[in-house]
Amino acid sequence: MVQKDKFDNPTKERVSNENTDESILYLVVPCYQEEEVLPETAKRLLKKMKDLMEARQIHPKSRILFVNDGSTDLTWKTIQSLHEMNPIFSGVNLSRNKGHQNALLAGLMTAKEYADIVISMDADLQDDIEAIDLMLQKYTEGYDIVYGVRSSRKTDTFFKKWSAQTFYKMMHHLGVTMTYNHADYRLMSKRAIDGLEQYTEVNLFLRGLIPLIGYPSTTVEYKRDKRYAGKSKYPLKKMLAFALDGITSFSIKPIRLIANLGFIIFLISLATLAWTLICKILGRTVAGWTSLLASIWLLGGIQLLSIGIIGEYVGKIYNEVKRRPRYLIQDIILEDKEEEKVPN
Ligand code: UDP
Ligand code: MG
Repeated sequence: MVQKDKFDNPTKERVSNENTDESILYLVVPCYQEEEVLPETAKRLLKKMKDLMEARQIHPKSRILFVNDGSTDLTWKTIQSLHEMNPIFSGVNLSRNKGHQNALLAGLMTAKEYADIVISMDADLQDDIEAIDLMLQKYTEGYDIVYGVRSSRKTDTFFKKWSAQTFYKMMHHLGVTMTYNHADYRLMSKRAIDGLEQYTEVNLFLRGLIPLIGYPSTTVEYKRDKRYAGKSKYPLKKMLAFALDGITSFSIKPIRLIANLGFIIFLISLATLAWTLICKILGRTVAGWTSLLASIWLLGGIQLLSIGIIGEYVGKIYNEVKRRPRYLIQDIILEDKEEEKVPN
């Protein structure tokens, strides 16, 4: 296929630039139980894509790629009927629910085979679609990665705001570079996604990983809206797991902290030992019950915590060495893909 040949040529970075100035844009949208919002999301995204095509800002082969992350509702059916209505809608169906980050990765990896630019966004219309214009503008200025950054968190609950802030602060102290208030609404060039492909870790935390790729990057601001319909797919438990993944995937500082803590406690215990010995020699026996009990609890607690944190890392290593696939694609509906299958 023509496009494939162009793609195979590694010196040709931007696939569609050969005959035209327009680039092929793929919008990647991970969806989990989103039957309630999908029709509206599809309508709004379609309008945006049409406007951009009319303005000759993007190539007519641009697509909206929904990734169904193993939903048990009508999400995949909806994607299929959208594709029948208009082939601009495409879909990737994962074999089961693999979580937002993996679904996003599946979308990015599929899209990069056909696209020059990929923009990822949530399905619930929280990300302001109008920011796409700004992102594309930054891309034409030469940026490979453009992070969408929320200008306000008014629509978030107090708890979400507070926990997000604490998380960013913690990550910063642990030495992880992350763009503040950036969710996964971002533009990436094909080159940047090719770079991302080389990071093969199973414990995915894209927000921490993508800044490591390098390449020119910038941010654009947008207003984050309320979820259009349906419930958040990030309940507290998932949010905490996500934060813990972020920390332990990017920093070994917690383990060092434990080692340091252990050392300090060892010094203190030496001092205590010396002190009790002196007391004994001087014949001043201490009642000791309280301090004994307190130290047992304190040490027990610290030890358990330490073992827990170490266990977290050991678990990570266990997951990484297994090298299991991060996602499996069950079906793909994509017009360009179907074309490829036709023998020449
Ligand atoms: N999502 C997904 N798989 C999951 C959970 C969520 O693909 O296991 C998608 C979801 O459909 C949405 C995006 O990830 O498009 C963000 O989820 P959500 O809006 O529920 O999170 P919140 O905005 O509340 O943090
Ligand atoms: Mg949301």
